[in-house]
Amino acid sequence: MPIKEQPNSPRPRLISNIFLALIGLSLIVNFALPIFLGPQIPGVPYSLFIHQVQEGEVERAQVGQNQIQFQLKTAEGQPGRVFTTTPIFDLELPKLLEAKGVEFAAAPPPKNAWIGSLLSWVIPPLIFVAIWQFFIRRGGGAGGPQGVLSIGKSKAKVYVEGEPGKVTFADVAGVEEAKAELVEIVDFLKTPGRYTQIGARIPKGVLLVGPPGTGKTLLAKAVAGEAGVPFFSISGSEFVELFVGVGSSRVRDLFDQAKKQAPCIVFIDELDAIGKSRNSGGFYGGNDEREQTLNQLLAEMDGFAVGEATVIVLAATNRPEVLDPALLRPGRFDRQVLVDRPDLAGRELILKIHAQKVKLGEDVNLKAIATRTPGFAGADLANLVNEAALLAARNKRETVAQEDFAEAIERVVAGLEKKSRVLNEKEKKIVAYHEVGHALVGSLTTGSGKVEKISIVPRGMAALGYTLQLPTEDRFLMDEAELRGQIATLLGGRSAEEVVFGSITTGASNDLQRATDLAERMVTTYGMSKVLGPLAYQQGQQAQFLGDGAPNPRRVMSEETAQAIDREVKDIVETAHQHALHIIQLNKDLLETIATQLLETEVIEGEKLHKLLDQVQAAA
Ligand code: ADP
Ligand code: MG
Ligand code: ZN
Repeated sequence: MPIKEQPNSPRPRLISNIFLALIGLSLIVNFALPIFLGPQIPGVPYSLFIHQVQEGEVERAQVGQNQIQFQLKTAEGQPGRVFTTTPIFDLELPKLLEAKGVEFAAAPPPKNAWIGSLLSWVIPPLIFVAIWQFFIRRGGGAGGPQGVLSIGKSKAKVYVEGEPGKVTFADVAGVEEAKAELVEIVDFLKTPGRYTQIGARIPKGVLLVGPPGTGKTLLAKAVAGEAGVPFFSISGSEFVELFVGVGSSRVRDLFDQAKKQAPCIVFIDELDAIGKSRNSGGFYGGNDEREQTLNQLLAEMDGFAVGEATVIVLAATNRPEVLDPALLRPGRFDRQVLVDRPDLAGRELILKIHAQKVKLGEDVNLKAIATRTPGFAGADLANLVNEAALLAARNKRETVAQEDFAEAIERVVAGLEKKSRVLNEKEKKIVAYHEVGHALVGSLTTGSGKVEKISIVPRGMAALGYTLQLPTEDRFLMDEAELRGQIATLLGGRSAEEVVFGSITTGASNDLQRATDLAERMVTTYGMSKVLGPLAYQQGQQAQFLGDGAPNPRRVMSEETAQAIDREVKDIVETAHQHALHIIQLNKDLLETIATQLLETEVIEGEKLHKLLDQVQAAA
């Protein structure tokens, strides 16, 4: 559906003309009027006026705030001459005038005052309107001139079915889970009956979460290409405008359009631009607008009943941690799909897709390239293929050769260093042993769930690799043994490094932080220390609301108590460390086996992983 554009409306121009006219008028009033108002009255210094009053020469006076006009007494049959003076602030003046028998009165207000005060009321709003117009026109941007009336119109782009060069799922690789999830969404839009018949409720909102360049926007476009329904696409930042209220009216408009076209998909890219947590910091004005926009979005998502009009809201973000929790509630974005950096096999598939666009030489081995590019996201791989093609062209080759790829990797890696982490062979090895260490110790710990996945594909914000433990049941309470087990698991990574390499790296700092925090909480909040007893050493209630990383203010306590706490915390962590070391040593061969496999495949998960970890021997 095309979006209506307002023809350049005559209204703004009219307003600015009036505005100019009024500025002219006020200049005339201020400068010209005093000159033309009647004959000029000579002015005298205030001191002279006082002197004349004291001498009894003044007949009458009109005392105004800024001017005193006075008439001298009649002398020699002629009417007294009139003078003006500028007064100083003088409370004694009325007394003096009375004492000297001068007739005096307050000056009447100047005749033209009403014009001045009218202008002072009219001009500021007009200036405001003019500025407003200016920004709105600028905001209209490439979309063409837009008048006041279209300010709230959504800027959503609508993809039309069957567009040439449309994206399909075949163009996306390496993110199989995300694809499977979205295929289901497409299926629902195509054959809703199949789902509603059984009484299934399809999610209203699906949030694609993952690092930049992993193909979130691409996936959304593929959904549009496959779905065969209208697809409204807009970026979160397009909602946030200078003016409070514009964003929310855009949201309203977008959903109005979408509902008319249902079944359809609304895609909001970069959701974090509007979805930032409402109580997160930031300067006030911007927050206000974003908050209104977010509230409107929440209201719209609650507004449409499932089944009645099938509008599925798809959104993407690479910063899920800043999103307002209200967005993630059931009935809104209740489905979250992780779009992660691809593993080895995924990278090869992505390379294959992008390599179709270039002419490859005989010697090109995509698998070898994939092996050399851990940590590359889809966008990096697409870029890599292009770089290689450019190099081949520069070297006047007909086809792209393996050596072009080798050089391109170097270029991209050098350029990537800050953007994403690419590990060298030795680092990769350390990370592999480290993660397997976590997994080995974790597999013996009941509290934190089953180890489901080990990965050395650099991922997300800080992790070089990760071990995923998923709870097998909902847990609300943990006992001391489980907490100690968790601490040991956290230290498992570092322990493996110690056992295998005999040295430690900086990679474990986050583990240590979390382990220490946990131990401190055991002592100060949960009362699990025998030495310190069941006392809460944390400051009041708030301790519960602070997240993991937040500093926990301690109660005022004696030096001795503080030392005792530190000793206890250290003792717990050290005990767990010894325990982890013991497990690693006992299972050193298994560690070797799993780490070697992990280095080959980068990810081990599911059944295969369970089988391996079943062999772990518990420490006596
Ligand atoms: P995101 O939105 O996650 O930041 P994009 O979808 O914009 O990333 O990806 C940018 C480009 O990188 C895509 O247009 C595509 O060419 C390439 N790309 C990214 N991920 C993939 C993937 N999984 N498969 C194929 N190509 C990809
Ligand atoms: Mg994107
Ligand atoms: Zn670790």
